[in-house]
Amino acid sequence: MTSPTQQETLGFQSEVNQLLDLVINSLYSNREIFLRELVSNASDAIEKLRFAALSDEALYDGDAEMAIDIDFDREAGTLTIRDNGIGMTREEAVNHLGTIAKSGTKEFFGALSGDARQDSQLIGQFGVGFYAAFIVADKVTVYSRKAGTPVESGVRWESAGRGEFTVENWQRPTRGTEIVLHLKEDARDFADSYRLRGLIKKYSDHISTPIRLPQEGENAEGRETVNAATALWLRNKQDISDDDYKSFYKHVAHDFEDPLAWVHTKAEGKLEYTTLLFIPGRPPFDLFERDSKRGVQLYVQRVFIMEDAEQLMPRYLRFVRGIVDTRDLPLNVSRELLQRNKAIDTIRGASVKKILGLIESLAGGDDYAKFWAPFGRVLKEGVIEDHANRERIAKLLRFASTHDDRAEPAVSLEAYVGRMKEGQKAIYYLTADSHATAKASPHLEVFRARGVEVLLLSDPVDEWVVTHLTEFDGKPLKSVTLGKLELPGDEPDKDDADEAATPLVERLRKALDGKASSVRKSTRLTDSPACLVGEDHGMSANLQRILRAAGQEVPPDQRVLEVNLAHPLLQRLDVEPDEDRFAQLALVLFEQAVLAEGGRLEDPAGFVQRVNRLLVDAAA
Ligand code: ADP
Repeated sequence: MTSPTQQETLGFQSEVNQLLDLVINSLYSNREIFLRELVSNASDAIEKLRFAALSDEALYDGDAEMAIDIDFDREAGTLTIRDNGIGMTREEAVNHLGTIAKSGTKEFFGALSGDARQDSQLIGQFGVGFYAAFIVADKVTVYSRKAGTPVESGVRWESAGRGEFTVENWQRPTRGTEIVLHLKEDARDFADSYRLRGLIKKYSDHISTPIRLPQEGENAEGRETVNAATALWLRNKQDISDDDYKSFYKHVAHDFEDPLAWVHTKAEGKLEYTTLLFIPGRPPFDLFERDSKRGVQLYVQRVFIMEDAEQLMPRYLRFVRGIVDTRDLPLNVSRELLQRNKAIDTIRGASVKKILGLIESLAGGDDYAKFWAPFGRVLKEGVIEDHANRERIAKLLRFASTHDDRAEPAVSLEAYVGRMKEGQKAIYYLTADSHATAKASPHLEVFRARGVEVLLLSDPVDEWVVTHLTEFDGKPLKSVTLGKLELPGDEPDKDDADEAATPLVERLRKALDGKASSVRKSTRLTDSPACLVGEDHGMSANLQRILRAAGQEVPPDQRVLEVNLAHPLLQRLDVEPDEDRFAQLALVLFEQAVLAEGGRLEDPAGFVQRVNRLLVDAAA
């Protein structure tokens, strides 16, 4: 080169170095996936060009025949993957091949254990993309030129994968990207036509652009296409194998793992569209980030239009990956236009129903936990967001329950209703900050004694679920910590009798004035001395805690203290002559009730002093 190429050596972002270490050390046994990753990138680049050319045909620059070409040189030990897609500018090469822009990157590296085997599992979940080249190459050279830029604005990028890379300006006659892998000694067997053909068939058959190898034979000069080279979703279902679907999923989702399930539909009628939607096998890293992406891609007449088309999936199905291809949108459709488009609304409505149907079929099988464990918390948001499908989503929910006391949420509302006792009017639940707290709550005592099942909810989102899902199958959902109870077998009018306060209850009301809104005889307790109960439509203690933790104003907690008059502590209180001591004991009784439901005391040190004083007295 004669012109000044402005060569620069730059360091990789530290996460890239970590990723490279991992890639090289942990993917050794699965080396061949490098090709799938690079072909997938080449295909993305071609789709991006097709899209850009919709509004600027000149970008094709006389070459609109899109292809991915693979070449190899056995002697030199090189393998080349070339596309005539969108290409990269120098700046883009530096940014895209030297840093990781993916959301959840920090979380991912935080989650690594240092244990090679575990981490190799994680890395599949994260995806390695371009860096997979370094599994088989000890040096990688990338030549690229962005479509629509002049020949002299090409770039050459090179790295041995150890901490740094170089970039320089490069004359490049053709647009697009060429990646040259200098194969490691033990990876030279990849420079082989038969081997490459097999890998392309295995991993990249579904790529809709032709992937071409040099023709075989004596005087062969041309190229032959190795993959099926049609959009997979347009083929007939009976011609698509499970493996085809799985590899397509890995391409669209940038995932290494197989999907859990998929649904492929063609709609023909007023609207014409095809959807191919997947539920991943594992949750993406950013599932719980507020603005995490929704992974459905929009195609119009087979042309890729955009990723993460949020109008295609509601937030609560943000884990779904896949594509929607339709004829009923203009090719130049923008995100803004999608927001108020009838066709899109119809397609989204139908896609949601398809996915719910798919989840229903999983729920009918033995492996529903595989779906519920990673995605259940997200699906629950659907009860809050999606009025139209609320009942359908409600049937898909699973909870822990006193039925078997297991922490795994496995009880459906239908199963609960099927087990309801004769005369039971409500579906009972308890919310708490953990399953252990929920399980041990004194509020459950009478339910356990009477054999009435209670759902144990310990996800923060559950509090919102129960405020939106007020009934199921005609039965109200009722918190066991709020309001008066009416259990099967209770006499209807006994409430009034309870209100008639005993002298002890009167004394307690006075002693706890300002702490509890009132004191009454409990119908809930069999073993514990006391518990706190909110108003019928009040906020549970758990919700108050969640809101406070989120920095929100919550009105002061004034609930009723229910006391178990049969408990020895209450009997002891009843005969306490010293008013001062009575007040101390009453306060401890109240504070215990707060602790038993997993709450925080206003004055923990005071509580400890009070208890100690009582212990000393008792020991004396
Ligand atoms: P991902 O594909 O998940 O974004 P990669 O590490 O595989 O991550 O690639 C990083 C970026 O580099 C891509 O998003 C793309 O912008 C760019 N890139 C990679 N390969 C190509 C290519 N063949 N043509 C154009 N750009 C590419």
